[in-house]
Amino acid sequence: MTRVRAAWVVPVDQRPLADGWVAVEGDRVVAVGNGPLPPGLDGPTRDLGRVALLPGLVNAHVHLELSCLRDRVPPAHAFTSWVKQLFAARGASMDHPDEPGVIDAATEAAREARATGTSAVGDIGNSLASVSPIASSGLRGLVFHELIGFRDTTGDLVARTRGAREAASRVNERVRVSLAPHAPYSVSPELFQAIRAEVDRSEIPYTSVHVGESAEEMELLVDGTGEWARILRWMGAWRDDWQAPGTGPVEYLDSLGVIDARTMVVHGVQLADESLRRVRALGATLVTCPRSNQWVGVGVPPIQRFYEAGVAVAVGTDSLASVEDLNLFSELKAMRWLAPRVPASRLLESATLVGARALGLDDDLGSLTPGKLAEIVAVKLPDHVTDVEEVLVSGVDARHVSWVHQA
Ligand SMILES: [Zn+2]
Repeated sequence: MTRVRAAWVVPVDQRPLADGWVAVEGDRVVAVGNGPLPPGLDGPTRDLGRVALLPGLVNAHVHLELSCLRDRVPPAHAFTSWVKQLFAARGASMDHPDEPGVIDAATEAAREARATGTSAVGDIGNSLASVSPIASSGLRGLVFHELIGFRDTTGDLVARTRGAREAASRVNERVRVSLAPHAPYSVSPELFQAIRAEVDRSEIPYTSVHVGESAEEMELLVDGTGEWARILRWMGAWRDDWQAPGTGPVEYLDSLGVIDARTMVVHGVQLADESLRRVRALGATLVTCPRSNQWVGVGVPPIQRFYEAGVAVAVGTDSLASVEDLNLFSELKAMRWLAPRVPASRLLESATLVGARALGLDDDLGSLTPGKLAEIVAVKLPDHVTDVEEVLVSGVDARHVSWVHQA
């Protein structure tokens, strides 16, 4: 048995424990507490001193496949400008997702996420290039093979990707593979429903969709006009028989029957309170990526309103094409800045337990709880700490993060 003691233990599923300890047997946590170790658990204990111990974090939305675009897509004032720059920068790599540059950058990014205290990722890819990098970095994850097809009238894309998805699922037990539609402005109603049916049939019935990210998306859905309609026509992807639903994206996707409790609704920057209440009623998890939202020019997410609406909120960094690093503590810092009244404990829960639940990994990850995997991170603390949770959401430099135990 391994025992570690620290100035603070932040289990997430209970209040922080001053002078706390965690006992580990094999790869599992067996007990968490503070003060003297109880009889039966006592024995040699490693005292780590002025650090906080917490569970590994869960980055619920990232695109490791785009890591090769780090520093290559500058911040934009409008989402459609950023997307055009992304297309230009992505160029050839989009056609050759298995080329070494793509894999090497994804591997380095996965290692960076791991080194900054991440246990698991919800990763989106138009190929399955990220599966091996995730497994080799020590992360766990759910990779969503993302489909795009605004003109797809049959859902044929789903059948065509089935073989690749099933093959990738067998690569490593740390990484599972599911399917995801990209967004309401890039996926046809038929493809949305075909993906949903396939996900419902699979052993991993979790999915994800970008929703309510930009004002341009809202404009397209309300009356079929605006910059997105122009871009779809310019790309030759427009479909003349497509009818704008005349609603917001949550209402539209709910009318198609494609959002449920195992759906991650990513971004939600533009969602009104009524739509947020609908997300809550459906039991879906909203994943916020505040640094990316600002980078791509869609504004700041209404984080306070997300929590006030009672929605389950998880946290993602998004890709290195729209954020400077994959340190989830930096994302928490952005959330704290944008939502000063949300309790730090709620923000920490979002970056751990809520994300783990959304990915179906909460039996093993998301809190320091007896029976779960001993994925234990230490964060070096400043001299005088009165509110350890506040310290953890105020920005933690990568140098101050280390792994105490990895499972
Ligand atoms: Zn995304």
